[in-house]
Amino acid sequence: MSDTFQTRPPAERRREQHKCTCGARFEVGHFGDPLLTTVRADIKCPACGKQHTISVPKGTEQNLTVELAPGLEPETGGSG
Ligand SMILES: [Zn+2]
Repeated sequence: MSDTFQTRPPAERRREQHKCTCGARFEVGHFGDPLLTTVRADIKCPACGKQHTISVPKGTEQNLTVELAPGLEPETGGSG
């Protein structure tokens, strides 16, 4: 049946929460190990597009996910 030998646990995605100056919060996900060497990566706020420079494990800077963090209060004034 399940004869997949796993010598090491599969990489799990880690999420780091960041906050933009526009007030939006977003999470940057990667599959790297934070204990490894980190490099700087440029990501953009999913809300306003502002560029942020963050530190991520080396090798993951090409494979980052940026998502708006849940919990952001939608302040849409008025519905007209
Ligand atoms: Zn922003």
